[in-house]
Amino acid sequence: MQKNQLLINYGDQARKMAKELLNEIKPERKLKSDSLIALKPNLINATKSEKGATTDPELAAGVIEYLQNKGFNNLMIIESSWVGADTDKAFEVCGYQELAQKYDIPLYNLKDDNFIKKTYQGLEIEIAEKALAADYLINLPVLKGHCQTNITCALKNLKGCISDREKRKFHRQGLHQPIAYLNKLLKQDLIIIDGIYGDLDFEEGGNPVKMNRIIAAEDPVLADSYAAELLGYSAAEVEYIEIAAQIGVGSEDLSRAEIIELNQDQAAEIDYSSRKLKKLAAKVKAKDACSACYGSLIHALKRIEESGQLDKIAGMIKIGHGYQGKKISGIGIGSCCSGADKFVNGCPPSARDILDFLAENYNIRV
Ligand code: SF4
Repeated sequence: MQKNQLLINYGDQARKMAKELLNEIKPERKLKSDSLIALKPNLINATKSEKGATTDPELAAGVIEYLQNKGFNNLMIIESSWVGADTDKAFEVCGYQELAQKYDIPLYNLKDDNFIKKTYQGLEIEIAEKALAADYLINLPVLKGHCQTNITCALKNLKGCISDREKRKFHRQGLHQPIAYLNKLLKQDLIIIDGIYGDLDFEEGGNPVKMNRIIAAEDPVLADSYAAELLGYSAAEVEYIEIAAQIGVGSEDLSRAEIIELNQDQAAEIDYSSRKLKKLAAKVKAKDACSACYGSLIHALKRIEESGQLDKIAGMIKIGHGYQGKKISGIGIGSCCSGADKFVNGCPPSARDILDFLAENYNIRV
């Protein structure tokens, strides 16, 4: 895999999808037979992945099966949930205890680990010894919104590799600079983003948006820049991405990225039942819309709602396979709606593209 590549696999069968991505990437080329490989999911709290906060254990299962089938058996799963949450409980509820038993892999609660002080540009950070000891760190973050930093994905997921004392300090320091600096001190080798369910705007879940995809990258800055666009932001609106790019963690330049989609999303049932999401979905008329497309639209509408201008959207926005080849009055989303009076191209378009399109057509300032 090249540093400028992003590989995307659409769907919701994470185990199969992870193996398909790895088959393209072939990480074994960069590994020795006894390499210590760490899997770092996001288990911020003890909630199932469908709630939008934590990494689907099926994604980790796909990675483990792929690696074990290639003869790599020196694996471990590492995590420290957020301050106040019990990581062991999260391992149990999120399905990782079962996973560890099934594949005979150690689970390490990093809250119990030793911490080593590392310094970058004068900022000292306590990092878990086990995370630093890994020869190959596979980051398995969740694609989701965040109330303070707008989004959270690959760069921020490494926060689960520091002490609780350090996590509190990060918050006092405003999060952005320490997150970027942490990524100078702890290198991730491969990222596979769980973008199947991710919360609309809070990292602890509760308002899951189905985005139906997993995304692989080697560059965490590029991965997060892409994640930002998928959630309706530009990289410039997420300060830690900007800082990480400036200090050379990676590149935020999506115009130079090679985006490879292994497949297309399939139509799926959508149930946006929470009050918050229902309000956004009330602006949409969907006919067999893919989850990936609908999820992007929901994220774009969320940004418009945040700006207090949701009422400017008059009429229903059309989306879905059901509109393909038909003449549609009003606004459409995605290439299926090319028969609309106006539509945003893409299959699926990103939330950022949808946001720009809606802003232009409804005179919205975001
Ligand atoms: S444009 Fe149509 S086919 Fe493409 S993602 Fe959207 S709904 Fe699915």
